[in-house]
Amino acid sequence: MTLWPVKIVLPPNKSRVLYFSTKEEQQRWSIRLKESVGYANLFDYYNLGDTLGQGQFGLVKLAQHKKTSLQVAIKTVKKKDMKSIEVFQQRREIEVLKMCQHPNIIKLIDLFENSDYYYIVLEYMQGKDLFDYLKARDFNISEDRARDLTLQIAQAVQYMHQYGIVHRDIKLENIMMNNSTDLAVPKLVDFGLAKIIGPSEKADEPFGTLGYVAPEVLKKEPYSFSCDLWSLGCIAYALLSGSLPFDCETQEETIKMTLQGPLEFDLPVWDTISDVAKDLITGLLMKDPAKRLTLDRVLNHQWFKGMKK
Ligand code: ADP
Ligand code: MG
Repeated sequence: MTLWPVKIVLPPNKSRVLYFSTKEEQQRWSIRLKESVGYANLFDYYNLGDTLGQGQFGLVKLAQHKKTSLQVAIKTVKKKDMKSIEVFQQRREIEVLKMCQHPNIIKLIDLFENSDYYYIVLEYMQGKDLFDYLKARDFNISEDRARDLTLQIAQAVQYMHQYGIVHRDIKLENIMMNNSTDLAVPKLVDFGLAKIIGPSEKADEPFGTLGYVAPEVLKKEPYSFSCDLWSLGCIAYALLSGSLPFDCETQEETIKMTLQGPLEFDLPVWDTISDVAKDLITGLLMKDPAKRLTLDRVLNHQWFKGMKK
C-alpha cells in the first residue's frame, strides 16, 4: 500500500512526517496545514493557464480555481522590478480595490504575496477593454448603447468618489468588458494612479493620459474629483463618435487643444445624435472645473431620464 507523506519541519532541527492513504488526503492536509500557519500559496488554489496580457510588472494569466472551477485573471507583479514609489502605488491599488464593491468596478477576489511577487486575483474580463470592444464594432454603436455604457461608468465613478477615491486615469483602455456581446457590462480597472482625498482636499501630481486628462491637471493647478468628470466627458464623446474630443497628431497640439481648443461636434455622425447628449458632453468638458457638471447633475441629466439607476 502506498502512503502519501507530508513532512512538517520544526526549526531548528526537528521534523515529523504524517502519512495519508490517498493523494487527495495528502493534498488536502498539506493545504490545511499551510493555511493554518499562513503559508498557503496561489498554486494550492489555482491552476494557471494562458497569458491574457502584459502588465507593467509581469504577466496577467487566466486561471481556474481548483475547487469551484471559477475562471479568474491573475496579475503577477514582480516586486524586484519596481521602484519604491511603484510598490507604493501597487499597494494603493490593492487597498482601493479592497474597498470597492460595485458592479461596474473590477472585483478583487483574492490576494497572495510572497517575498518576490504579488498575485492579484481579479474577476476575469472575457471581453477585453472598451477600446477593443468598440473597434470590433467599427467604433459605431447606437446612441442608446452609448448612453447605457456612459451611465454605468458614471455610476462607478460616483461610487468611488463617495469613498473619497479619485481615479485620475479613466480612459477606454481602463474600462474592461465582462464579455464580448452587445449587452456586456463595463468595469473600471487599473487603480494604479488612484488617490484617496478628503472632500475639500486637492491633489497636484500631473497624472493621467493625454487626450483624456483635464486642463487643470495639465496646467499643474490643484485639482479634485472633477478631473474624473472631464475624462467621463471624453469617454461619452468617444462612445458616440469613435474619436476623442481634443486628440491631435502631436502631443503639443493635443495639450493646446485641451487647454484652449473649442469643443466641436463636427464629424457627420454628430448630426444623428440627440441634443441632450451633446448638452451633457458640453457640461462635462467645461475647461473650468468650477463650471463643470457635478456627478449629481450628471446622473440626473435629461439624457439619462427614465433609465434605471
Ligand atoms: P498594468 O496596470 O500593469 O498595465 P493591467 O491591469 O493594465 O496591467 O493589465 C495588463 C493587461 O492584462 C490588460 O491590458 C488586459 O489585456 C489583461 N488583463 C488585465 N486584467 C484583466 C482581467 N481582469 N481580465 C482579463 N484580462 C485582463
Ligand atoms: Mg494598465
